[in-house]
Amino acid sequence: MRLVLFGPPGAGKGTQAKRLAEGHSLVHLSTGDLFRAAIKAQTPLGQDADRYIRDGRLVPDEVTNGLVAEKLDEIGHTDFVLDGYPRTIPQAEWLMNHLAEQDAPLSAVISLVVPEEDIVRRLSRRRTDKETGAIYHLDFNPPPEDVPADRLLHRSDDHPEAIQTRLGEYHRETQPLETFFRERSRFVEIDGTGALDEVQGRIGEALAEVRGLGGV
Ligand code: ADP
Ligand code: ADP
Repeated sequence: MRLVLFGPPGAGKGTQAKRLAEGHSLVHLSTGDLFRAAIKAQTPLGQDADRYIRDGRLVPDEVTNGLVAEKLDEIGHTDFVLDGYPRTIPQAEWLMNHLAEQDAPLSAVISLVVPEEDIVRRLSRRRTDKETGAIYHLDFNPPPEDVPADRLLHRSDDHPEAIQTRLGEYHRETQPLETFFRERSRFVEIDGTGALDEVQGRIGEALAEVRGLGGV
């Protein structure tokens, strides 16, 4: 399956993409994770992306598409779940053309729907395990007690100003993709509220239906 997980910042894309990747043997491609790894390694790409990410602004399309092209080539366009990409119309157009050229169309776009007040609550108390990449929430998905506190990262863009900027970018640049995807792919809306397992169950049901329709 070739999937896109779509939704606002904090919708649970990373959380569910990890579960999907594990459960369905898909390669998990998170542009946010790839950018953060590049920043940590201080590569030219990382240095370029850093100032945008810190402020909560989107990294320019050419840079982002270049990174995704490289990764898709690396994995051979096989089964994947894209998380946090595409986020703009030019990115989505690039992706659809690229996949068409490779004869590897998307199976579905899974859109996680979560109200804005939940999003702010989720992002402001998100913590990430620096070593394993696991995503936690101090209230809704707390880290196990044996994970030392100094391993838990509070992302530098999860502070109130950057959250507001990211939400603004989402409404302006990313939300319009919904219409694009409805016209160009199979677009499935999932209620992203409730327990993590419940959301996972809803996605599983939707994917079973996609498979039943021959959309693998
Ligand atoms: P995204 O990748 O869309 O930004 P994440 O998967 O990082 O979202 O989740 C954002 C925050 O919300 C994290 O702290 C995560 O633990 C938490 N979270 C994810 N899914 C749920 C859920 N169903 N209910 C409550 N909190 C959740
Ligand atoms: P979240 O889903 O919680 O907003 P991500 O980890 O997906 O966080 O993204 C973090 C940041 O990385 C974004 O705010 C943006 O600056 C940058 N980024 C990630 N994906 C893209 C993309 N597809 N296009 C442009 N910038 C991106």
